[in-house]
Amino acid sequence: MPEPVILFAAKTERWEVYEAPLRAALAEAGLGGATLTTEAAPEEVDYVVYAPNSGLSDFTPFTRLKAVLNLWAGVEDVTGNKTLKVPLARMVDGGLTEGMVEWVTGHVLRHHLRIDMYLHGQDGVWRAGTAPPLARDRTVAVLGLGELGSACARMLAALNFRVLGWSRSPKEIAGVECLHGAAGLDAALGRAEIVVLLLPKTPATENTLNARTLALLPRGAVIINPGRGPLIDDEALLAALDAGRVGHATLDVFRTEPLPPEHPYWAHPNVTVTPHIASETRAASAARVIVENIRRGEAGEPFLHLVDRVAGY
Ligand code: NAP
Repeated sequence: MPEPVILFAAKTERWEVYEAPLRAALAEAGLGGATLTTEAAPEEVDYVVYAPNSGLSDFTPFTRLKAVLNLWAGVEDVTGNKTLKVPLARMVDGGLTEGMVEWVTGHVLRHHLRIDMYLHGQDGVWRAGTAPPLARDRTVAVLGLGELGSACARMLAALNFRVLGWSRSPKEIAGVECLHGAAGLDAALGRAEIVVLLLPKTPATENTLNARTLALLPRGAVIINPGRGPLIDDEALLAALDAGRVGHATLDVFRTEPLPPEHPYWAHPNVTVTPHIASETRAASAARVIVENIRRGEAGEPFLHLVDRVAGY
């Protein structure tokens, strides 16, 4: 059987990061003879390793394509591509998950322990008797219980937080009270002192946090969004922050990225902006995930991490 041709379609700086790990992973998987390239005649390509910002959007000439292997976990920029008629796999990478667990845990602990109060409140007043509650007395809701959300929920549960989780389908996770569906969302938000958003961007998840659902939160609740910007109605969040109904929002993702300098989030005293850095795929582990799918494709085995194009994630 001829060795597969793999087109790497992503920005040049990504090629510099991924070329060596991909070649190493191919050799490790017994696919050292494969052609891995950034330029190929489309009709000769078997697999596209893909970043949606690569400039490639018309897959029509790729007549022999077996799969598109996304470099990113989020696939909202690909699912609607009508020229893509082969299986689409998204990135599920242990390094990405580990990074997200660390980022989410850090930001939850920041608010749980009221770290800001001590960072910014060195005013000479000794306020005794203000120890933070234990995690067991703090309720955190994790919206989205996929690869990333479930790992974060497990870590928060391991730290003893009361963890509520919410997903589309019913789930069972040890130490996590799992809810689903519209009623489940309202129930979770009604109790959540800290809300972590790890939903994908789909038509069904847009504005999950809006004026109505934000009003369900206990007063002063904290929002942490490393999911996607459109999960939140920005106007509604700003109004809830100004009214003190939401105590703080830590936002890593936005409808427009980079977040424009004039956006009110930058200057808001109760908003922390981070520049979409919550976590990223790590080339060494991600390369193995991609190559495992190529190996499977060549062996006629089912691909891993396939995207449900109808559900949009
Ligand atoms: P995933 O494995 O596909 O999980 C998605 C979760 O969301 C699932 O639990 C799913 O429910 C739930 N969900 C989807 N639609 C829903 C709906 N309408 N109602 C309720 N729940 C719904 O995704 P993941 O790998 O965990 O990644 C989640 C998101 O994180 C990505 O899509 C991406 O946007 C974001 N992300 C951000 C960064 C960053 O650096 N900021 C990095 C990586 C990823 P079911 O379990 O029932 O299917």
